[in-house]
Formats: sequence, structure tokens, C-alpha cells
Amino acid sequence: MTDQNPITTTEAKAVPVLPDAQTVTKVTHYTDRLFSFRVTRPASLRFRSGEFVMIGLMGDPDPKTGKQKPLLRAYSIASPSWDDELEFYSIKVQDGPLTSKLQNIQVGDEVIVRPKPVGTLVLDALLPAKRMYFVATGTGIAPFASLIRDPDLYERYDEVILCHTCRETAELKYGADLVASLADDPLIGEVVGDKLKYFPTTTQEPSARMGRITHLLKDGEVAKEFGLPPLNPETDRLMVCGSMGLNVDIKAICESAGMNEGSNSQPADFVVEKAFVG
Ligand SMILES: Cc1cc2nc3c(=O)[nH]c(=O)nc-3n(C[C@H](O)[C@H](O)[C@H](O)COP(=O)(O)OP(=O)(O)OC[C@H]3O[C@@H](n4cnc5c(N)ncnc54)[C@H](O)[C@@H]3O)c2cc1C
Repeated sequence: MTDQNPITTTEAKAVPVLPDAQTVTKVTHYTDRLFSFRVTRPASLRFRSGEFVMIGLMGDPDPKTGKQKPLLRAYSIASPSWDDELEFYSIKVQDGPLTSKLQNIQVGDEVIVRPKPVGTLVLDALLPAKRMYFVATGTGIAPFASLIRDPDLYERYDEVILCHTCRETAELKYGADLVASLADDPLIGEVVGDKLKYFPTTTQEPSARMGRITHLLKDGEVAKEFGLPPLNPETDRLMVCGSMGLNVDIKAICESAGMNEGSNSQPADFVVEKAFVG
């Protein structure tokens, strides 16, 4: 018997076209280069705050075969592990294969979320200490947007310093709004208390704090602002997420302070992850 029943064919077509499809529940645009969005969370997805997954859309049909393949990219999950939904914070690359399309998504659309989280920006990759530094540029703040909403962070560390550098003030808004919202957050506001310190800087547009974060960390400006001692492996841990250049520079600062790079299998003093490949 062959399966030629037209009813069966119709039912098969009703299956969602996207594999691992999740539904968009919210989209917020910040600038012509940045936006955030939230999607439903796959029931089976467990992740640790700070990890990334592969997400995407179906690519254009192959001109010869008409077949479509998923177009996937790595994305840090910006929401904490306890959230019912998943949040992402994204660049818009005008000729980027994925983000030229992704920037047009609307509530109700579907996005592919592959349920295999990985990454090194996790609390398990660092040894216990007093203080945690997060250093990010651009969309590199995404994993820290997840971690600063995780109560586990504040149970493990007395102080958390979030350093975020962008070219312009408008590019800081996603992080600034998030930090401001935590004080009144009914779920974790009390846990965060006054433990979270925020250090935003711009490199191009004039603002209250200007300059590259590498210089400001090295010159002791961050420490001075909050009355902290210099980086010290006994008391401090650090996570960095930015361009290759930033990661290399911050790694050098950590190593010259006597800190060792950690990993999931060998927790230590600092961890590094690329915010994009480029
Ligand atoms: C571990 C990891 C986590 C990532 N997490 C995020 C995330 O949370 N949010 C996010 O927007 N992107 C993230 N990226 C980058 C992401 O995977 C894609 O590169 C990005 O979505 C652009 O896709 P695209 O297909 O449009 O262009 P691509 O062909 O991937 O990139 C086109 C160009 O844009 C540059 N570019 C790509 N992403 C960025 C970025 N985020 N900031 C500045 N320049 C960029 C690239 O260097 C390249 O020159 C991550 C990358 C890695 C490796």
C-alpha cells in the first residue's frame, strides 16, 4: 500500500515549516543597528545563564531545487535560566545573511531555536570569590543581561561590576534600561540590592564617561569610581564578551594581574567569549 491518501498529504502540510520553531512574543528596536526580541521557550530547553544557542530563519529557496535550508547563527541567550521565555539582543547587519531578515521579525512570526546551549560565560567556569567584573562591548552585553538577572550570581558574589562600552549613548539603552529595572523587579530586586554596579562608557558620542574600557580598567578608573582595589586573583573574577581585539586586550590585563583563564572543565579566575566572528 502506498500512502496516496490526499487527506494525509494535507495533514502533512499543516506541520510547521520551521524545525525547532518558536514564536516571537515581543520586539524592541533601539537604533538602526540594534534590537531585542523575545520568543517562546522550547519545553525541553534547559540552559545555564550566560550560554548561547544557534538561532535563525529559513534561508531563501535554492534557485535550482526550490529547497530551503535553515540559516543559523550563534546567539547568547539574554534572559536568565528561570525565565519562561527566551530573550535575544541583536545586531542588524544590513547585508548580513541572517540579520538583514531577522531585523524585520514581528510578534507572531517564527524563529528557529536549536535547543543545544553551550558556552564559557557561566558561573561554573569560575572559582568562588568576592567580586565579579563583566566587560562587554556592543551586543556582547547579551550574556551578562542573562547573568545579572540570575539570583545565583548574587549568592556567589558580594559585588558585581558591569562595564559596557558602545560608540553612542543610544547603543547603551538596552543595558541601561535593564539595570534600572532590576531595583524594582519583584522577583530578584531584593537579591540584587546594591550589589550591582554599572559602568557604561561611550567611545564616540560625548557622554558622562568616555573612553575604551581597556584603558579605563588598566588606568584604575573603574576601581576609582567604586572605591575598589586593583584586580586581584584572590578576590576578583572577570568575564569578557566583545570583539577579538577587546577580548585579547582584557585577557592581557587579567593575566598581568596574575589571573588564570577558566573553562567549564577547569574553573579559574576569568573567562572569554567572542560576541561575533569577524
Ligand atoms: C558565541 C557567539 C555568540 C553570539 N551572540 C550574539 C548575540 O547575542 N547577538 C548578536 O547580535 N550577535 C551574536 N553573535 C553574532 C551572530 O552569530 C551573527 O554573526 C550576527 O547575528 C550577524 O549575522 P548575519 O548572518 O546577519 O551576518 P554575519 O555574516 O554573521 O556577519 C556579518 C558581519 O557583521 C559582523 N558582526 C556580526 N555580528 C556582530 C555583532 N553582534 N556585533 C558587531 N558586529 C557583528 C561580523 O564581524 C561580520 O563582519 C554571536 C556570535 C558568536 C560566535
